[in-house]
Amino acid sequence: MSEHKILLDESELPTHWYNVIPDLPTPMAPYMGPDKQPVTPESMQAIFPPAIIEQEMSDQRWIEIPEPVREALYLWRPSPLYRAKRLEKMLDTPARIYFKYEGVSPAGSHKPNSAVAQAYYNKQAGIHRMTTETGAGQWGSSLALAGQMFGLDVRVYMVDVSYRQKPFRRSMMETWGAEVIPSPSRNTEAGRNALDKDPENPGSLGLAISEAVEEAAGRKDTNYGLGSVLNHVLLHQTVIGQEAKKQFEKVGDSPDVILAPCGGGSNVGGIMFPFLADKAAGKDIRMVAVEPTSCPTLTRGHYAYDYGDSVGLTPIMKMYTLGHDFMPPGIHAGGLRYHGDSVLVSQLYHEGILEAVAVPQVATFEAGVMFARAQGIIPAPESAHAVRAAIDEALQAKEEGKEKTILFTLSGHGHFDMAAYDRYFAGELEDFDYPEDALGKALRTLPDIE
Ligand SMILES: *Cc1c(COP(=O)(O)O)cnc(C)c1O
Repeated sequence: MSEHKILLDESELPTHWYNVIPDLPTPMAPYMGPDKQPVTPESMQAIFPPAIIEQEMSDQRWIEIPEPVREALYLWRPSPLYRAKRLEKMLDTPARIYFKYEGVSPAGSHKPNSAVAQAYYNKQAGIHRMTTETGAGQWGSSLALAGQMFGLDVRVYMVDVSYRQKPFRRSMMETWGAEVIPSPSRNTEAGRNALDKDPENPGSLGLAISEAVEEAAGRKDTNYGLGSVLNHVLLHQTVIGQEAKKQFEKVGDSPDVILAPCGGGSNVGGIMFPFLADKAAGKDIRMVAVEPTSCPTLTRGHYAYDYGDSVGLTPIMKMYTLGHDFMPPGIHAGGLRYHGDSVLVSQLYHEGILEAVAVPQVATFEAGVMFARAQGIIPAPESAHAVRAAIDEALQAKEEGKEKTILFTLSGHGHFDMAAYDRYFAGELEDFDYPEDALGKALRTLPDIE
C-alpha cells in the first residue's frame, strides 16, 4: 500500500451527506426574519428551491446524494488523502501529517462539492438562472462550472477589487459560460446606493451578497446560491470528512488533531462534522478552525445575531461576527474575509467542541511557500492558513518529542492567486491585527435580538 497518497475507488464515494443538526448538544439557534421571529420555509422560497430549504432545516442525520450529483462528483471525487512525508522531513518532526486535497476539482477548490448539488436542485425545481457573489473568485468559478453542467445561466457579482486584481478568475467563469459583473453595480438598488455614497467603493462580500439576493428575490426564474455559511452548504461538504475517515482506516491511522481554514465554515464542517461522532464517543480528537488575525471572526468576534449581508436582506443568524458592514483591511491578501461564520460552527465553537486559532498573514504565506517547496502543490492563500497551523502543530510535537497524527484540508490550489504570492515575495504584506475599536463599533450595528 502506498503511503504517499491514499486513494479511494469511485465506488467508495459517500452515498449520503451527514447532517450534524440532530447530533448537536443543544438545538440550533433558529434563523430570524426581519420581524425578529424564526424564518419560515415559505419566506425562503423566493431565492431557494424546496429541496435546499428542506436540507437547511432537516433533522435527518443522513441525506441521500442524488445520482446525478454523484455523477458530477465523480469527475474529481473521491479526492486523495496525502501523507506529507516531504514536509515532515523538512520540519524534522515526529508528527505524521496528512492532508485531504480538494484542489483536484475543476475549479481548484472544495467549493464545487456544494455547487453541483445546488445547481442540480435548482434545475429540478424548474429554475433557469442563478445569481451569486464571489470574492476571491473560487465560489463564482464553482457555480459557473456547476451551472454549465446542469444547464443553468449563472450571473456572478464579483467584489470589484477582486474583479480588477484577478482577471483570470473572471476568464475562468466566462469560459464556463457565466456572466461576471463587478460589485457594487448599477443593476441593483443595493449597488446603486453604495455607488451613490462612494463611487470608488471597492466592494465587499456582504455587499455583493446583497446584490445577488436582491436580483434573485425579484425574478421568478432566478434563484440564489451561497458558497459557504448555510447549513446545506456544510452538509454538501461532508463528503470530505467521510472520505477522509475511510482513507485513514485503510492505513490504520486516525487523526489526533484536525485543522481547516475558516472563512464561513464549509471546510470546517466538511472535514470535522463526520468525526464528531468519534469525539462524542470519547476519542480524543482536537478540531481547530484556522482564521486570519486580520479577520478574526471566531477568536475575537461577538457571538450574537447578525445579518448575513451588508444591507440586511438575508435572515438574521446567531454567529460569531465582526459586524455585517465589516470591510477587510486593504493590506489583507489571504482570503477568508467573510464577516461572520456558519451558525453550526459558531455554536459548536461556543460549546467548546471546536477550537479556533488566528494566524498572521506573513507567517501564513511563509507556510504556503514552505509547503509548495516540500510537497510541490502551491496552496490557495486560504488553504495556507491551515498549512500554517499544521506546521505549528508539527513543530510543537517536535519540541515535545511526541508522536501525533495531524490532518488538515488543503482546500484548494493557488494557481489563480499568484498575485498575492508576488506581494509576499516583494515584501509588501504585513501582519494586521483587527483593531479593538472597530470591534466595538461593530457591536453597535447588530440587530437587537437575544
Ligand atoms: C472559500 C474558500 C475557503 C473558505 O471557505 P469556508 O467556507 O470557510 O471553507 C477556504 N479555502 C478555499 C480554497 C476557498 O475557496
